[in-house]
Amino acid sequence: MRERRILVVEDERTIAESVAARLRAEGFAVEIAGTGPAGVDAARRTPPDLVILDVMLPGFDGLEVCRRIQAERPVPVLILTARDDETDLLVGLAVGADDYLTKPFSPRELAARVHALLRRVDRAREAVTPGAAPPLVLGDLEINEAERRVRRAGLEAHLTPTEFDLLVHLARRPRAVHPRERLLADLWGWADASGTRTVDSHVKALRRKLGADLIRTVHGVGYALEVPK
Ligand code: CA
Repeated sequence: MRERRILVVEDERTIAESVAARLRAEGFAVEIAGTGPAGVDAARRTPPDLVILDVMLPGFDGLEVCRRIQAERPVPVLILTARDDETDLLVGLAVGADDYLTKPFSPRELAARVHALLRRVDRAREAVTPGAAPPLVLGDLEINEAERRVRRAGLEAHLTPTEFDLLVHLARRPRAVHPRERLLADLWGWADASGTRTVDSHVKALRRKLGADLIRTVHGVGYALEVPK
């Protein structure tokens, strides 16, 4: 198997270096970019398998980097946020980041998150052999897992890898209530009450892209996919 590439966009040198050292020790090829524009250029030049993105960056910020690289090609993104900066976190998840880690974090914790995210992407890819499974059709919603494409009322929606996986997970058991903690554990591979905001933010993105009526909030519990008419 070819070496997996990780792009680290972080202007704090000590953090970038310790993250890179840990990931290289785990067998990844790592590239570091120190500004927003340099991060976008690096992602364009050599498409990475995963991007680790600091929010506060010179040039333009990590959220803008995320927007730009996701617009070109879906790639798993893990954002690094300052403690308690909830706005950054929510905006980051809204612009297509898949997971987040709050500073300060240990390199070990970061590596665990990276592995969980890559495993999830791999699982999603292996779950379907192209052309094998017929599209999942629920009312006017059509999900083609083999091609990782989604249409609603004939219109294609562009989802990030995490948004797609969440939608498929909900759609496999339509109308069933999925607790937020369970979704976090099943899809993100970690469980922590604070992480349920990650789930909320991805649901919000799915509603924005596919229609607000598609996913029902079960107050205080979680979410259920409604079958659209
Ligand atoms: Ca920074």
